[in-house]
Amino acid sequence: MKKDISPETIANIKSNIRIEDYIKQYIDLKQVGTTLVGLCPFHDEKTPSFKIDTTKNRYHCFGCDATGDLIDFIQMFHKASYQTAVDMAADFGNISVVRQQVSDTIKVFKEYKPIKHAKPFVHPILDMGVYNRYDKRPIKLWEEEGINSKTIDAYNIRYDTLRDRIVYPVYDLHGNLINVKGRTIYEEYKKLNIPKYINYYKVGCMDYLQELNKAQKYVKEKGEMIIFEGIKSCMKAFQLGMRNQVAAETSALTYEQIKLILGFHCDVVIAFDKDKKLEDYYNDNMKLLSRFTNLYYINDTKNLLGDPSEKKSPIDNGLQVWEELYSSRERVID
Ligand SMILES: [Zn+2]
Repeated sequence: MKKDISPETIANIKSNIRIEDYIKQYIDLKQVGTTLVGLCPFHDEKTPSFKIDTTKNRYHCFGCDATGDLIDFIQMFHKASYQTAVDMAADFGNISVVRQQVSDTIKVFKEYKPIKHAKPFVHPILDMGVYNRYDKRPIKLWEEEGINSKTIDAYNIRYDTLRDRIVYPVYDLHGNLINVKGRTIYEEYKKLNIPKYINYYKVGCMDYLQELNKAQKYVKEKGEMIIFEGIKSCMKAFQLGMRNQVAAETSALTYEQIKLILGFHCDVVIAFDKDKKLEDYYNDNMKLLSRFTNLYYINDTKNLLGDPSEKKSPIDNGLQVWEELYSSRERVID
């Protein structure tokens, strides 16, 4: 851990030490109005162009453009580092220097430039009534895929007859409804030129993880979060008794999602569909995860999920296959 000088110390130095008191130890200064003038220590000159503005507590040389406050002056004059200059200034002014611990996490986050995308925004909380108007009916399409009606009820999956979409609620961490997501029932959606998924309400960037509101308790208990791509995988895992799983709803995790995950201080297992290779989704955001968590990913080296073109989720071939994939999960080291 690195120690940083506290902002209060800097503020103290700036407001309690007159820059001229320090500088006049080295340079003769003459008063001209609110300005003090002297020969510049940073360049060779015979007529004084080095000025101290006593109202601003700063110096400026009109000959060489040297400019700054007391700490800048000490750094330049004594060729001192910033830390040393602060110590020297504080020593001169009898000010105690407070250093604070800066965790590596904060340091890296300060230096980190997130990948730009849509801005997050404050989600309005929707009334459950807007969701409850959708039909409760058997979702045959998903039942054919092995998701039973009990699970469909547990996830409150419904049907939007107007748009012919299977809909599901999106909750924030506190369980408030923040969106409704609809998946088309038409497998030919590309030919029909309709989106596979739509958000019924404004979403901004992806700053949530689907099902995390329910999974969070189990994620904390287990110290592990399993991240699938979609909600169907979460549901299949639920049927097999798993509870610490969420859906990213994207394979390119956003910075906001990463921050959310890091807040849990847990291990992370990426269980994306077979067609996604690690290098496809291992972006700069993901690198943060690998630095601050034990990050694992499912790598189907034994080809238990078939051809990548089938786009199978690691949970699609049942518990036994999942357990084998999970136990051979690979650690991602940045
Ligand atoms: Zn100068």
